[in-house]
Amino acid sequence: MRGITIFFVLSMLARVCLLTTAKKSASFNTVRNIRGIAEMSKFDLPDRLKGNEKSVWVEYIQLAMQYKPKINLGQGFPDDHAPENVTNALAAIAKSDNPLLQQYTRGFGHPRLVNAIAKLYSQLINRDLNPNNEVLVTFGAYEALYATLQGHTNPGDEWIIIEPFFDCYVPMVQSAGGVVKYIALKPKVTSGTVTSGDWVFDKKELESFFNDKTKGIIINTPHNPTGKVFTLDELQFIANLAKKWNTLVVSDEVYEHIVYEPYKHIRIATLPDMYERTITIGSAGKTFSVTGWKIGWAYGPKNLLYNLQVIHQNSVYTCSTPIQEAVAIGFELEMERFTQPDCYFRSLAKELLPKRDYMAKFLQEIGMVPTIPEGGYFMLANWSALENKVNLQEETDENKDYRFTKWMTKNIGLQGIPPSAFYGPEHKHLVQDYVRYCFIKKDENLKAAADILKEWVSK
Ligand code: PMP
Ligand code: GLN
Repeated sequence: MRGITIFFVLSMLARVCLLTTAKKSASFNTVRNIRGIAEMSKFDLPDRLKGNEKSVWVEYIQLAMQYKPKINLGQGFPDDHAPENVTNALAAIAKSDNPLLQQYTRGFGHPRLVNAIAKLYSQLINRDLNPNNEVLVTFGAYEALYATLQGHTNPGDEWIIIEPFFDCYVPMVQSAGGVVKYIALKPKVTSGTVTSGDWVFDKKELESFFNDKTKGIIINTPHNPTGKVFTLDELQFIANLAKKWNTLVVSDEVYEHIVYEPYKHIRIATLPDMYERTITIGSAGKTFSVTGWKIGWAYGPKNLLYNLQVIHQNSVYTCSTPIQEAVAIGFELEMERFTQPDCYFRSLAKELLPKRDYMAKFLQEIGMVPTIPEGGYFMLANWSALENKVNLQEETDENKDYRFTKWMTKNIGLQGIPPSAFYGPEHKHLVQDYVRYCFIKKDENLKAAADILKEWVSK
């Protein structure tokens, strides 16, 4: 009996030991598996996204948060109150008796908004747009660009992009497997008074980029960052090449209402036989000075917009209902006073003109050479005459304009954007001595920027 008891106790002990060891090795295996997963290259950034990791916005917004410059003229947005017409509309919508205004709306655009957009542009381009299939509402102009470039690119398709370009065009093309062909705008003169009209492309060079693989060309007028408003002659030249080679034109016109007299915004879709091949992109953020609302749109022929709808319905599907309703109300109000001087589409450029001129003057006074913009709210300035006032050695970036803008943020308290972010790898050197400043800012902040710069150069 004693022997049996001893045997039983020993065998129980052996089982407990075995179980503990098994548990230990199981948990060891789990840890090993977790570590293994983390180490596996299987979860690296997919190949189609490689090369697109750097973003000037991510980097410079972080820089501003870290160094808190006194004045930030970097990322483009107004620092004043947004117009009351649209903000009051949004406030009323939040309290509306109609409960459906807080719920999902039609995927390709809230009915009231697509109707307003179609009505406005039918007038502006002199053609009846169908709100149901010739207009798509998107999450900012960014999504309109994304849906266009993803929806119209097969691997190997070539897109011609004019430098400097709004930086997201390139990753959007490349992540769809497209190939970018760059052509640079170059200033004809670099001293004295330079205007954005002096930044031109070489017609022969542009012509040489078109071939059977060309899917399209992306233009941006009024242009970020130069402020160039493309001329009829330039647009006709581009349109003729697009027709000759049967390509698309993507026309980013987010600054369409910010054009300084005597210049005029020309929509390439209005040139003969161009509507059929043009996708035009707009932004409520720019149109109504509410960049945080992130509503944009694309308009164009229904067969071309179809491809954008496929991307949109499978990614964003539908945009915010209250914000679309408020933007629609904004459009309706502006259409009612369209011919009057207080129409926001006219008054905004008038309000910005003295700010533009004030900035150009103080930049000239301190020795920079500004490019006077014909449209938009950015100004490029060449600072090479002031190079002895900055210690570029303190920064490690490859491009001098990055070193300049970072040094200025950290040491002088004024932030700008390095324009080489808007160039492909071959041409970044063209703007090594430039900075981009935004002037849709309160007068007191522009004055503070002028004071900072004057004090810096007087030392
Ligand atoms: N295109 C250009 C030329 C821009 O400057 C911007 C920045 N607003 C956009 C597109 C994107 O506009 P949104 O903020 O409406 O997405
Ligand atoms: N379009 C604005 C600019 O150029 C904002 C860009 C952004 O926030 N990505 O400054």
